[in-house]
Order: sequence, then C-alpha cells, then structure tokens
Amino acid sequence: SKRILEVKNMHFSFYTYAGEVHAVNGVSFHVDQGETLAIVGESGCGKSVTVQSIMKLTPTPPGKLKQGKIEYMGEDITHYTQKEISSMRGKEMSMIFQDPMTSLNPTMRIGHQIAEGILSHENISKEKAKQKAIEMLIKVGLPNPEKNFMSYPHQFSGGMRQRVMIAIALVCNPKILFADEPTTALDVTVQAQILELMNTLKREFKASVVLITHDLGVVAKTAQRIAVMYAGKIIETGTARDVFYDPKHPYTWGLLDSVPSTGVQSTKTLLSIEGSPPDLFDLPKGCSFAARCKYCMNICREMPPEETVMANGHKASCWLLDCRAPSVPSQKRVSR
Ligand code: SF4
Ligand code: MG
Repeated sequence: SKRILEVKNMHFSFYTYAGEVHAVNGVSFHVDQGETLAIVGESGCGKSVTVQSIMKLTPTPPGKLKQGKIEYMGEDITHYTQKEISSMRGKEMSMIFQDPMTSLNPTMRIGHQIAEGILSHENISKEKAKQKAIEMLIKVGLPNPEKNFMSYPHQFSGGMRQRVMIAIALVCNPKILFADEPTTALDVTVQAQILELMNTLKREFKASVVLITHDLGVVAKTAQRIAVMYAGKIIETGTARDVFYDPKHPYTWGLLDSVPSTGVQSTKTLLSIEGSPPDLFDLPKGCSFAARCKYCMNICREMPPEETVMANGHKASCWLLDCRAPSVPSQKRVSR
C-alpha cells in the first residue's frame, strides 16, 4: 500500500532557561494509506511533540527540530515554511486535540467554522460550501444539521464538539488525520462512539490516522500498528497483534499489565509502573528505562540498546533481545 508519511530519525529539543529539554530523541516511523498507527506512551514521552513538529505546531523558539527528515507522499517537507505547511493543513493533513474548545472559535457558528475550512481550500461558492458543511454534520452524526449549523460551540456537549472537530478535520479530505488524545476528556460511552465514528470515516475518506494516546484500551479498538514511546524514543513497534500478544520490551510488558482486564481504563493506567521517566534535561547514557526496569543488566546502564528487528517488521530496543543476553524472562501474557 501507498506510503503517506515517513519520519526518519527525528530529534526535537526545547531550549529553556533551565537548559535543553530532549523531547524527541531519534524517532522513525511511517504511515501507509488507510491504516491507523497508534503512538502510545505516558505524558511527556514526546508523542505529542513528534506530531506537532510534523505539523509545525510547536512553538519555535524555544522548540527546534535538530535533526531528521519528514516526507509526505514522497516529498521532503522537513524545511517547509509555516506558510507552506498551513496551506497543507486540512487538505493534506489535519489534527484534532483532546479539548475541542481550544481549537473551535467560541464566537463563530459551528457551520461557518466548517464552511470556512472548505472555502480556504476549494474554489466554490458560499452556498455550495454551506451545503457541504451540512452534509458533513450529518456524516459526523449530528442530527438536525440545519439547527446545528447555526449553533455556537458552547451550546454543544464535549462529545458533540469533538464530532465538529472531526467534521472540520475531514471535510477537505486530507490523507492523514493526527488525533492527539481525542477521547481522553470524554466519558467512556462517548469515547467509544467517537472512536467508532473515526473508524467509519477513516474508511469512507480513505484517510490514514495517527492516534496519540496513553490508553491501550483505545488502541485495541482502532489501530493496525502500534509504536510505544518512552523518553522521546520509540522503544517497540509492530502490528497491534504482535505488540499486544507478543510484546518484547519490559516497558510494554508493564503497560499491558496495567490494562484492566475489563477493558475499562482508569485514569491511572500508566502510572502502575513504578518509578518515573528520566530527566529530559539529562538523559541516561544507557537505556532510558533502566531505572525502572526489573531486568536491568550492567550493560543497560552503559550503552543504549540497539533496535532488534524480528519477523513481520516487529522491532524493539532492549538488551534482552541481544543474542549475548542471559535467557529472556518468561514472556508476559495479556489475560483478557
Ligand atoms: Fe530493561 Fe535493559 Fe531492556 Fe532497558 S535494555 S528495557 S534496562 S533489560
Ligand atoms: Mg500530549
């Protein structure tokens, strides 16, 4: 299938008064047409920064893309200007966030906000744009579109506002949708409906999705592939099946252990791994997970583990996968 996005060896830092924050430390991944890639990790692991950096949504300064290459549809967009990237927003790449209120204009009618996106990319009449916006409202499951068209964001519930964001994001048929914790602020029933909607529309619009989440329950429902991030690196990546049922990295084992078997996520999901992530001002010279890892060996503190590539493109970076390592502890199983 067709390659939509490729990120190669991205390094991104924030230069603050207190020093350099190493937010992203050599991240590589790709997204093919029609698939959902989930980027999973604790808050502060660099998953949002990675995507914001692609869309040039990080504050620059203090943020800086130090190294790496970003290719969209085979074209190198790494050094595109703000203007060039913003002309792609909506039409090629779109983004939705946890809190739609931060992206919606509180003083502008919902319908006009959708139509505005259409008019900025397509050369059609206002009347046609309005028609298209109404069709889009129906597609995202907002009944009574004539009335909703004239509503303001504050008149909607959180779930309805996220539906509006999805409408705005998809109305110009982008090839890729970045969704940063899109359901985190919603209650569980609404979460499921929004994920279902994203899955349906992804197929209808033949779009690809990059889903950023700390919630493995969300991932299980939507993603074909998973990239697990820790301290600014992807430490394991593979098909959802491989990562869920044959995880290779101790951090992934910890994540999966913390998924309640009911499938209902608590807000503490990722906090059940003891300890905290390393200081991004001063990363350890060996494996970033060493301080929290039950299986830590001497070499782990000395050298960062290399990436081991297994069957089916499943990759993980852990010294336990090195052929010289002592026998790997019995693989953790997810009981569901
Ligand atoms: Fe643990 Fe060592 Fe693997 Fe890092 S490299 S996850 S410290 S076993
Ligand atoms: Mg985030």
